[in-house]
Amino acid sequence: MPASSEHAVVIVGAGPTGMVLGAELTLAGVDVVIVERRATSELEGSRAGAGGLHSRTLEVLDQRGVVDRFIAAGQPHPRVGYAYVQLDISDFPTRHNYLLALWQKDTERILAGWLEELGVPVSRGTEVTGIAPDERGAEVVLDGGRTLRAEYLVGCDGGRSLVRKAAGIEFAGWDASTSYLIAEAEMTEAPQIGVRREGGGIGPVNRAKGGGPYGVVLREEQTEHASEPTFEDLRAALVRAYGTDFGVHSPTWISRFTDTTRQAAAYRQGRVLVAGDAAHVHSPMGGQGLNLGVQDAVNLGWKLAQVVKGTSPQSLLDTYQAERHPVGARVLQNTMAQTALVTPDDRHDALRATVAELLALDEPRKRIAGMMSGLDIAYDLGDGHPLLGRRMPDLDLQTAAGPTRVFTLLHEAHPVLLVLGGTGGFDIGPWADRVRSVEADPIDAAHASAWEMPVIGAVPAPPAVLIRPDGHVAWAGDLTDPNLPAALTTWFGEPKLA
Ligand SMILES: Cc1cc2nc3c(=O)[nH]c(=O)nc-3n(C[C@H](O)[C@H](O)[C@H](O)COP(=O)(O)OP(=O)(O)OC[C@H]3O[C@@H](n4cnc5c(N)ncnc54)[C@H](O)[C@@H]3O)c2cc1C
Repeated sequence: MPASSEHAVVIVGAGPTGMVLGAELTLAGVDVVIVERRATSELEGSRAGAGGLHSRTLEVLDQRGVVDRFIAAGQPHPRVGYAYVQLDISDFPTRHNYLLALWQKDTERILAGWLEELGVPVSRGTEVTGIAPDERGAEVVLDGGRTLRAEYLVGCDGGRSLVRKAAGIEFAGWDASTSYLIAEAEMTEAPQIGVRREGGGIGPVNRAKGGGPYGVVLREEQTEHASEPTFEDLRAALVRAYGTDFGVHSPTWISRFTDTTRQAAAYRQGRVLVAGDAAHVHSPMGGQGLNLGVQDAVNLGWKLAQVVKGTSPQSLLDTYQAERHPVGARVLQNTMAQTALVTPDDRHDALRATVAELLALDEPRKRIAGMMSGLDIAYDLGDGHPLLGRRMPDLDLQTAAGPTRVFTLLHEAHPVLLVLGGTGGFDIGPWADRVRSVEADPIDAAHASAWEMPVIGAVPAPPAVLIRPDGHVAWAGDLTDPNLPAALTTWFGEPKLA
């Protein structure tokens, strides 16, 4: 148990979302504790064997200097999937122009190691059984009756989130239309590897080596179930799909997932917030859920830190909902579209073939692959330079201290005013305790005039750019722009006068 029972922030759930949020808050120097009911960071069940990190998630991890650990454990693939159509992203202007295949259990193991290094307190084997929110925060009730006091409480506790339910946040959406069995098991006969039209498929669990054990995904006849799936359910589903069970035996785990699609109507209720699966659930088509949760956490972390420290008013937290709810809604929409497209019948096959034909064209491929990889995300920060609200590209830079990259400047999760071309002249002093000002020149001469962005193409290079800790552009323009002080105040608090 944590030594103190009072914390600035209590996070419920040490899944990918809760762990990344814990890291972000710790980097910002905020007193945080994560409470997790699982006794260890080991993961079992359907998610253990699922996994992929998309480009934007890899960029976000690169912004914190930890992406290499994930890359070393995974396998890059130059394509992302949309309704089983493969879209090449190797021409996308990012260092991470690929999908990194990595089991979720490995992602969680690596994240847990990072948290340990940062010293993020995680109370494992502790279940939250109730919460009582009030205007000062929330009382958090743990199993055994102990309580914690939180100024802010964040539910990163998955699709069945107790925090979301107890805060009375509506979870509107659609019930399941399909259900899949997912399992890992040995087989005495060599099975047919690959995806089947009827839904599902079989693949070797160790993708590099091939051979068993095998990962099995099988569409079920029913969407409603009264109990957990059994070995007999797995065997019968194999026979239904393949006419044989391939001598299946020794399952490591058997689980089930559906395409239930729901989103929290509010991401914040007073001092209670939700993120990750607690805020949205949908079909795993396209492998986006974990990625969405990690990016929720990186959007929320620095904002919550500033509010806790009193640097920014509570209203900054409203931008978390304003920015992330539309991104989540878009994923709900694209997973529903994909689920419809892969419906196993002749008419949907014809529809999918038509969509595949369109996606073979350059513009539609870039549009959809930009969405699947998360590289197209543009928060609505009003009118202005085309970079506003988009991800800052990871330019190679020359500074007085030597060469660096934009993402390296973000490792400590602090905002950066990047002045390009040495045009100086703006007094960052009143924000200098929060915002780092860096003068640099792009190493690539072409970047002096234009930057290549995913999906939208080349944009004019601004003389200066204000980068938020999550890597999104808060302002871009000339240092004489009267909007610059306003942008600094909006995002990073009032100026401090000497
Ligand atoms: C078959 C399948 C394949 C998938 N494939 C992909 C993929 O390729 N790519 C991708 O991005 N996503 C994928 N997903 C989705 C991904 O698994 C989830 O989106 C992701 O796990 C969400 O992370 P989270 O941290 O928000 O929630 P979770 O991972 O659900 O973590 C919530 C945590 O909270 C803990 N918790 C819950 N209640 C309490 C409580 N009361 N007290 C204390 N602790 C509590 C839980 O033990 C858990 O550790 C897949 C999902 C499935 C089912």
